[in-house]
Amino acid sequence: MENILNNLNIEPKHSGSSSGLNWMDLGGELITSCSPVDGKIIGEVGSSTRQQYDSIMDCALEAFKVWRMVPAPKRGEIVRQFGEELRKNKSNLGKLVSYEMGKSYQEGLGEVQEMIDICDFAVGLSRQLSGITLHSERSQHRMYEQYHPLGVVGIISAFNFPVAVWAWNAALAWVCGDVCVWKPSEKTPFCAVACQKIMANVLKNNDLPEGVCCLINGDYQVGEWLTGDGRVPLISATGSTRMGRIVGATVAERFGKSILELGGNNAMIITPDADLNIATVGVVFGAVGTAGQRCTTTRRLIIHESIYNTVKENLIKAYAQIKIGNPLDENNHMGPLIDQDAVKMYLSAIDKIKSSGVVVVEGGVLSGDDYSSGCYVKPMIAEVDNDKEIVQTETFAPILYLMKYNSIQEAIDLQNGVPQGLSSAIMTNSVREAEGFLSHAGSDCGIANVNIGTSGAEIGGAFGGEKETGGGRESGSDAWKAYMRRQTN
Ligand code: NAD
Repeated sequence: MENILNNLNIEPKHSGSSSGLNWMDLGGELITSCSPVDGKIIGEVGSSTRQQYDSIMDCALEAFKVWRMVPAPKRGEIVRQFGEELRKNKSNLGKLVSYEMGKSYQEGLGEVQEMIDICDFAVGLSRQLSGITLHSERSQHRMYEQYHPLGVVGIISAFNFPVAVWAWNAALAWVCGDVCVWKPSEKTPFCAVACQKIMANVLKNNDLPEGVCCLINGDYQVGEWLTGDGRVPLISATGSTRMGRIVGATVAERFGKSILELGGNNAMIITPDADLNIATVGVVFGAVGTAGQRCTTTRRLIIHESIYNTVKENLIKAYAQIKIGNPLDENNHMGPLIDQDAVKMYLSAIDKIKSSGVVVVEGGVLSGDDYSSGCYVKPMIAEVDNDKEIVQTETFAPILYLMKYNSIQEAIDLQNGVPQGLSSAIMTNSVREAEGFLSHAGSDCGIANVNIGTSGAEIGGAFGGEKETGGGRESGSDAWKAYMRRQTN
């Protein structure tokens, strides 16, 4: 791993910051980053003190004065250069994401590709930021709407997408004329340091202030400084519903804007008309990929009673073939959970499942040399009713609940019958069922798929979910409007 840090020009004891201050010298606590892959220490990153936070914010506010005067297509050119640097560093960054977070190398590369894609999208967008012209009720008058930059955008990100989700926000915010202050997850600080360094270089090479792309490291307390800060008009926060409830209230209290991207509890409906080969692949990829640690992970399967036993047997067979191990080894399908706390949550969920349902495929923690970090677990399947508390809650682990339905309306009611509303899917070759699922009386989620699974997202569409998922939209379509203030002239 030292090689990769070297290639990315990062010291294992990272002390740099976007304001040129040395975080360690100033006495901030150290965050130790441990890989869930083998339990080894990657390095230490200084956590920002309040004093450092304030000087970084000053730096961002000063940078905004310069950045907002740069024409949008020229801001797009800077984002294009950032995308080029990401292309050059793709394999090193992909490995770092895989090693620090625990997802497979292919998924690590996929995350970097998502960053590249959103840069491309943002470059095009930088020449398309537009407002509409309307007819005025007054004679000889013209009325129109224009969009102006907001200022400092605070980005709080989760451990499971340590780089892509930040880029979804940052690339759009930059072309919109905003500057960003990023508070990454304390579980994946090196991924953040690597990305910030790359963009800092691009800015330096273009004689632009580094404060356009700021980084503050630390735990929830550092996040609280950001969410409570009246100098930050927009907070985009990705993480658990528990976090979003606090962040949403704090930002609303000071009349700030927020984009909340929170937990999911995603279901797939499998109808008698489904192609069961496509369905099985979709379920396994959605339920087991990233060890069940995606916001869009498939957590519930709602299966028609006439095919229930066949689907269950197919899954038992498929789960028996899953290879668990080092995610950098491309022969393995599933890597570790992020840390011991995640393992504890997984085990506590298993206890609850055992008291409220029937186990179909046993879970458990793996031991032995290949699993020395203690974070490797088995993917589990259980039959538990939808209304049970454990099914209503998002457990961030590879646990899949099976349930039966009789009528399509019952299936849609079950799918919608949870507090979260991120992603959903139906497997069917019936146009009537597919269209019903996509209609206003169908899925209540932000994402509704037909004949593909719940997980994965394309950057071209607006990404986000309803209900306790928070209602935010990021990435493509017109999500950019949230990063600007609208003015009627
Ligand atoms: P988390 O809520 O524990 O932490 C997320 C981030 O919020 C971290 O940077 C953390 O330091 C910060 N934070 C926590 N409490 C805070 C507070 N009071 N004030 C300010 N910041 C605070 O989530 P996690 O365990 O890192 O990630 C997993 C969760 O994220 C899952 O629930 C998953 O579904 C969700 N997620 C959602 C999306 C989405 O787009 N909807 C995407 C990725 C992850």
